Amino acid sequence: AKEVAQMGASVDFFVAIGAGTLCDLAKYAGDKHRKPVLLYATAASMNGYTSAIVALKIRGLKRTMPCAPAIGVFADPEVIATAPQRMTAAGVGDFLSKASSSADWRASNILRDEYYCPRPREFSDDIQTRIIETAPRVGYADPEAIGVVLEGLLLTGLGMVIAGSSAPASGGEHLISHYLDMKHALYGTPNDLHGAQVGVGTVYALRLWEKVLELDPQALDVDALIARQPTDEQVRIWVEDDWGPVAPEVLAQWREKALDAEGLRAELGRFRDRYWQMRELLSQDLLSSDVAAKAIKQAGGPVRPEELDAPIDECRKAELFARFLRNRFTILDLAAEVGVT
Ligand SMILES: [Zn+2]
Repeated sequence: AKEVAQMGASVDFFVAIGAGTLCDLAKYAGDKHRKPVLLYATAASMNGYTSAIVALKIRGLKRTMPCAPAIGVFADPEVIATAPQRMTAAGVGDFLSKASSSADWRASNILRDEYYCPRPREFSDDIQTRIIETAPRVGYADPEAIGVVLEGLLLTGLGMVIAGSSAPASGGEHLISHYLDMKHALYGTPNDLHGAQVGVGTVYALRLWEKVLELDPQALDVDALIARQPTDEQVRIWVEDDWGPVAPEVLAQWREKALDAEGLRAELGRFRDRYWQMRELLSQDLLSSDVAAKAIKQAGGPVRPEELDAPIDECRKAELFARFLRNRFTILDLAAEVGVT
């Protein structure tokens, strides 16, 4: 990234022709030199083309950083139809993640008073139905169906720009993918395409949401739930075991959202009191995990951790420990708090 940015000092604008990595490099360089960026997308594999963030590897860690969005994004479904099938299937996974991520975001507003904006969800609602309907044709690389996926990805990228945050398109399911990417960056553990990992994470997160919203909030045994939360010491040992040299940075993220016993008691109280309101509001975001899994499968993508090109024990650990990676509250936190696995 540094090299590209240096090379770009003397140009008037940047053009990238490619998928996520190349386009992110151009956005990064353009942002550094305050020059316009044009992108020509060659795969419908993720929603970053229109977003105002870039994912870059910095000192071995994958991070997302804010940047100016591209001034133009171009794509031709006929060209994208020639990209590997797994890439478009990954795009379907990345798109559908908004069902769980927008629920996570809204829940963080209901339970923790975090900033929330309903606009991103509103304008990509109808495209979700169309993507689910056309998923089988994505599996046959039909350019028209691929155009629908592309449109959905470009819209969710814009949703992040409108929200001024990646929250509408990045919740617990993305943390599962980040966990696998960080293991890859630090230890060379095999990982899969972003959208493939996110799709598997989405099916998992939506299942957790289904279990959490089936609970009887009045029947929660608050004392027992508080007693079963991991101690600071346990979390520190897990994080150090997982992340070695970067454990302090991970722990700093975790501590920003970690609750002590009293904080957790208050949150469980809010969960009980606002449960019905939450159920009703989140029904606008959530999608059935079976429907999401079916669509990703029809598009030709993985839906179970066993189907990813990543070690299954790392995937299982990601489900349990990915929540420690970031200060953002997600279903991975809520499920752990209310004792749902
Ligand atoms: Zn994504």
